[in-house]
Parts: sequence; C-alpha cells; structure tokens
Amino acid sequence: MKTSVNLFTGAEMPLLGFGTFSWTGEPERVANAVKHALECGYRHIDCASMYGNEKEIGVAVKGVKGMDRRDIFITSKLWNTMHAAEDVRPACEKSMQDLGVDYLDLYLVHWPFGFKNPGDGNLFPKNSDGTLMYSDVSIMETWSAMEKLVDQGLCRHIGVSNFNSKQLAEVLDKGRIKPAVLQIECHPYFNQSKLIKFCQERGIAVTAFSPLACPGRLTLKPGEPVVIEDPVLKDIGGKYNKTAAQVALRFNVQRDVIVIPKSATPARITHNKELFDFALSEEDMRAIEGLHNQDTGRICKPIVTVGDKKILWGAGHPLFPFDEEF
Ligand code: NAP
Repeated sequence: MKTSVNLFTGAEMPLLGFGTFSWTGEPERVANAVKHALECGYRHIDCASMYGNEKEIGVAVKGVKGMDRRDIFITSKLWNTMHAAEDVRPACEKSMQDLGVDYLDLYLVHWPFGFKNPGDGNLFPKNSDGTLMYSDVSIMETWSAMEKLVDQGLCRHIGVSNFNSKQLAEVLDKGRIKPAVLQIECHPYFNQSKLIKFCQERGIAVTAFSPLACPGRLTLKPGEPVVIEDPVLKDIGGKYNKTAAQVALRFNVQRDVIVIPKSATPARITHNKELFDFALSEEDMRAIEGLHNQDTGRICKPIVTVGDKKILWGAGHPLFPFDEEF
C-alpha cells in the first residue's frame, strides 16, 4: 500500500508525519513523544521555530539508536517575524542548528502575512495599543529569499502554509522554484477539496495539519461536534475494525494528502500510524466528504488574547488568507 507521495523533484515524502506543536509548551514532553514516534516507525517530523521546541526535538532525534538522518523527512517553518529577505537565511540556520541537522527536507513559510522583526526574539511584537505590529513584506520578497536556501543547499524543498489559492498562484506565476508542498488545516469537517484539487493539478503536494481537528483544543465549545467522536466516522470504522481517528486520517491519506497528527500519548502515537492496512470504499469516502462544513468546519482561527480582548490576528492585513473561498 502507498505510504509516501512523490514531490515534483522526485523525492518521496511520507504520507504519515508527526506533529510537534503543543499549546501548553512542554518541549520535553513533545521531544519524548518524537522519540517514541521514531522508535515505532514514523519517519517524518513536522516542526516549526514558533513551536519553541526544536532544540529538544533535535536532541530526541539524535537519541534514537541507529537512526540515519537521510531516513527522516524533517520539515520546519519560517515564522512571521522573519519574512524580510535578510532575515530568512538566519531563521533557517537557527532552526537547522536547533534541530542539529545540516539540511532541511522542507522549509515552509508559516503564514502569508508577516510581523515586524522586533530584534529581541518576540514572536508576537505589539504596538503600544496592544495590536500586532504587522509588516508589509511582500510574499515574493520572502519567496525569493526562500529560493536562495535551495540554491545554497540548506533546504531540499520549500513550500508554504496557510496560503490560499490566489497567493499560491502568485508564487507559481512569479517564482523561480515551485512550492513543493502546501500545508493547511484539513480534516473531515473542513476537507479543503477545492484547494487540494488546485494543488494536485499543479504538482504541489498537500499536508493536512490538525488532521484530527485537534480534539483537546482550548477553543472547543460545549456540545460542538468532535471528529474523533463523530458517529459517521465511528460507523465506518466499525466495518474495518478501526476508530474514528484512524478513519479521519485514512480519509486524507487515501486522497494522497499527507497527515501529521500530534500526540504526546504513546498509545495514541502507535494507534495513529495504523493507516496502511485498510482502504476506505468509494461510498465511505463520499460519506466522509459529506461531513464538510464550509461555515463552521475551520478550527484554526489564530487568536491572540490582549487583556480581556481576543483578537483574530492577521484579520485586516491585506495578506490574511481566509477571506477567499479557497
Ligand atoms: P491534531 O493532530 O488534529 O490533534 C492533536 C490532539 O489530538 C492532541 O491534543 C492529542 O492529545 C489528541 N490526539 C491525538 N491522537 C489521538 C487519538 N488517536 N485519539 C484521541 N485524541 C488524540 O491537531 P494539531 O496538533 O493542531 O495538528 C497536528 C500538527 O499540525 C501540529 O502538531 C503541528 O505540527 C501542525 N500544525 C501546523 C499549523 C500551521 O499553521 N501550519 C497549525 C496547527 C498545527 P495528546 O497529545 O494528549 O495525546
């Protein structure tokens, strides 16, 4: 059964990766989870400087006996404060140094809009009125600097995250090197079918973040439906002796969409990788597509709390990606 996708360069990217973002911090806990994931067979790790744990992850990877760097696909991401051309290479080098690697398999622009670089490492620099200090660095200024990382051998592939189809089209149109991957929120309640079709028609692979719709998220409202408890997914899972979580992950993998579930729980880490010993029927795939909800399905609405106010960060910025249909 297929376990990887071919990127446009011919390189293989595993369809199953391991997510490393923890909103509660706990870098050591995530690092232990990464070690467990590698020991039980994951070969792809999704990292980002913004997650604040790349150093610990680097140590964990080195601690896995017999692991060859070339056997692991490592992704990292450029944070919003580092979009200016002169900041891109230092940001990439910092992630590589923290992760203890001499190249990245994939480096993504984390968000299309940028913040001013405050020069002190603050990831969310704010104005005196509490609003975020946005920058007006263009997508192409950042992308041209990303392309140099490939030229200079720091990154095997570059790509983008949280870009909409128009922003991606601009990079395809004006860029010299094609984005290899688009990483976006994607799960049965927000299945991104139009954006996936757009990418796959253009030879861009898609990675689904929050592929389980992050069941423990702080923004979950009482009574809100949860993917891993969804009755349709549970029923389908019953036919294959699988859980709703495994069905949700298989749904994407079967569309050639890479999944990067995160868990700090060893039993779940093992459970989430059991995706390649069953195939969903066409009828089941259609039923899962029926769970999509364009209005309520998206969970990643970046919110920053300022005092007692919650601010949708990025909203109002000309490069905010989620006002387009896809
Ligand atoms: P997720 O993987 O959909 O869900 C993670 C949550 O699900 C954790 O709280 C985990 O709990 C729980 N969980 C995992 N497996 C489970 C299972 N089998 N049964 C029940 N609960 C389970 O959400 P995510 O962490 O937001 O997304 C995954 C990764 O995508 C991130 O870690 C990060 O690498 C990436 N990401 C990227 C972006 C971006 O902007 N590019 C945004 C968000 C996420 P425990 O840990 O307690 O087991």
